[in-house]
Amino acid sequence: MRPVIIAHRGASGHLPEHTLPAKALAYAMGADYLEQDVVATRDDRLVVLHDVHLDRVTDVAERFPGRARDDGRFYARDFDLDEILSLRVHEREDGEGNRVFPGRFPSAGENFRVHTLERELQLVADLNGNGAHTVGVYPEIKRPAWHAEEGVDITALVLDTLRRFGYAQPADRAYVQCFDEREVRRMRDELGCELRLVQLIGEDGWSPEPTDFAAMRTRKGLEKLAATVDGIGPWVRQLYRYSADKDERYDSGLVRRAHGQGLVVHPYTFRSDALPEGFGSFDALLRYAIDELSVDGLFTDFPDSAVRYLRERHATESDK
Ligand code: CA
Repeated sequence: MRPVIIAHRGASGHLPEHTLPAKALAYAMGADYLEQDVVATRDDRLVVLHDVHLDRVTDVAERFPGRARDDGRFYARDFDLDEILSLRVHEREDGEGNRVFPGRFPSAGENFRVHTLERELQLVADLNGNGAHTVGVYPEIKRPAWHAEEGVDITALVLDTLRRFGYAQPADRAYVQCFDEREVRRMRDELGCELRLVQLIGEDGWSPEPTDFAAMRTRKGLEKLAATVDGIGPWVRQLYRYSADKDERYDSGLVRRAHGQGLVVHPYTFRSDALPEGFGSFDALLRYAIDELSVDGLFTDFPDSAVRYLRERHATESDK
């Protein structure tokens, strides 16, 4: 099976992440799925943002000085939707204001804004209706435990919004992803979600999620997951070990173990401008994941490069 290409925050290698232009561009590049990270506003609306904070990708600090919490961060949950929609979006910056990916899209300007989950799902419906090709959606519930402390059941809101746009059945073109293992089980067992579910796997100590990621990657852990989810989304570095001394890679066996439990594997994040160690080119990374490990899909900031790789590979196979 040809692996699916998931546009990570849109074609975020080319345009500011999670903006509608980045999503439309990813569609035009032939991505199979568009990813939406979802967080809640003060008025319980859902916006497409990677972080619960606004400050790394918008001008919120200049526009709304004094609205940060004690930790100095500006939280989407402290702003109404109208306020968030008035912000300008720019390329991601770190805490010091330096660009995380210096080679990416240069300016902010008026073109880039935050949008609601509804607006993006409507864009997808309209693009699909126009018929160039069909693209699926791949929403991530961001920090559900934190949102619950903030008094909002973000997961229920996301599932309801998806349902209104026709995403409810296992065969619908959607995956729902989350790092929080308990919330993934809650989606299946309590909220009646029949959509395909993907358990994201991070590293313990990386994120605030109350989840034991190391145990999850074992055969037993994957067997347990398989009772609930359809697939896993591991960090790309969990697919292999790398010895810098010998310049050699060793398959971690994760893909094989997951396949053994009937799970699809969609690793993140494939970036040609930030290659993981052990790879000298983006094509070498794609070749390893797709042709050697047989992943079922991948999250990439550069859907154009991944689609091109698959086309060229297919052309080569047809020549044989
Ligand atoms: Ca994500």
